[in-house]
Amino acid sequence: MIPVLAIDGPGGSGKGTVSKRLAQALGWHLLDSGALYRLVGLAARNRGIDLANEAQVSELAEQLDCRFAVPENGELVRTWLDGECVDDRLRTESAGADASVVAALPAVRTALLARQRAFARPPGLVADGRDMGTVVFPAATLKVFLTASAEERARRRYKQLMEQGLSANLRALQEEMEARDRRDAERAAAPLKPAADAWVLDCTDVGIETVVSMIQERLKQ
Ligand code: C5P
Repeated sequence: MIPVLAIDGPGGSGKGTVSKRLAQALGWHLLDSGALYRLVGLAARNRGIDLANEAQVSELAEQLDCRFAVPENGELVRTWLDGECVDDRLRTESAGADASVVAALPAVRTALLARQRAFARPPGLVADGRDMGTVVFPAATLKVFLTASAEERARRRYKQLMEQGLSANLRALQEEMEARDRRDAERAAAPLKPAADAWVLDCTDVGIETVVSMIQERLKQ
């Protein structure tokens, strides 16, 4: 059995950074499943396809031509779509909003399942997303659900966007994130919720490094 560490939670909970740090520390592969949904949204926009057209968007998801490179020095993961580097376009809030629209389509989720599972290769996988523990890797070695208050999550996302040189407005960002959370939690297909056997960690007042060490300790048990 290939070990899988599933890290789920809402946007801005710190799960992206935590997952990357853990993958580096463990020497495991990393799946940023949110990036796949963002890529599907972007590919649909590029082709002028209506994001609500389930048949066309799921066909796109099935045939998605993308590539990821995970740098070892802790820098951002680099992403290519149809041979073009799309890092900047992928990380914007509008790409996140588009992702959550296409992610609500059941056929799109099904189309991305095998692609996500293929990331589980030796020596192990850290899988970052919304449904890693509930749908994609239900037999994961350890399932963690990271949360934080809406204010703190908006603050973290704001800082992240600033560090990437992207502009943002904190209040608008919090509103957009809350709208996205609602859409993710209320959708019929794989709604955002912790798996029954997940370890729910509220990291509003806990730093990223501490969360990483806590998860590493739990993995050793
Ligand atoms: O994590 P990230 O912000 O990149 O995710 C973008 C959107 O993709 C989420 O708001 C969610 O709607 C969708 N998503 C999902 N399932 C996942 C990962 C992301 O539905 N496993």
